[in-house]
Amino acid sequence: MENEYEFELLYEGKAKKVYKYNDYELLIEFKDDVTAFNGVKKNNIVNKGKINKKISSHFFELLNQEGMNTHYIRDYDDKAFIAKWTNLIPLEVIVRNYAAGSFCKRYGVPKGYKFDFPLVEFSLKNDELKDPMITKEAILLLKITSKEILEDIISISKKVNKILSDYLEKVGIILVDYKLEFGLSKENNQLLLIDEISPDTCRFWDAKTMESFDKDVYREDKGDLITAYTEILGRLKI
Ligand code: 5GP
Repeated sequence: MENEYEFELLYEGKAKKVYKYNDYELLIEFKDDVTAFNGVKKNNIVNKGKINKKISSHFFELLNQEGMNTHYIRDYDDKAFIAKWTNLIPLEVIVRNYAAGSFCKRYGVPKGYKFDFPLVEFSLKNDELKDPMITKEAILLLKITSKEILEDIISISKKVNKILSDYLEKVGIILVDYKLEFGLSKENNQLLLIDEISPDTCRFWDAKTMESFDKDVYREDKGDLITAYTEILGRLKI
């Protein structure tokens, strides 16, 4: 398919395209494609990109206001934003407040078990290897990043958890778990929260009914994805 923008396409992932906007900035386009189980299940769902862009921009703006350093600069249009260009650290940081998804499968615990404190886990970002889990020690041994940066990543991930969980609680949503990614800015090597924060990368449950408003609706064929994602827009009043 033709590219939507006239800028140089640097990278195309499963849900986003990344273009060079200028020497230090990227344009990030949110696609309508949705995938699950490492790309085994695939669909194109009209408007998914726009909704995820809107939710992501909203959360990044909130985090920027709260003093977190994120790559988000400003919206470009209804399906893309401008972000600081970073060199990606190939890790997925998973923060969990309740048991769900792969955690339940791994340990045989029931979905919805509430944790006494947030659990921070890591996966190696590698499609070919299917994003295997990795320990902190292995991250350091493989020199994926330094000890100082890894400690910063953990403390930022916990702060983000507090900010987003408190914010969502006020609109009746439980932040069950989510995935974060980090990079070092091309301009000055600053550690930045990158990628997206959306119903594709988080689990959001209704606080009363435990109904999912996230990609589990698609993964588990339990309803209409756009209806679920639109519920988040409504609760956030955006
Ligand atoms: P789980 O490990 O239970 O599959 O995922 C935990 C959380 O991280 C979920 O909110 C899930 O959406 C997110 N997550 C983990 N890995 C990925 C990934 O590769 N892509 C996306 N979009 N989200 C992920």
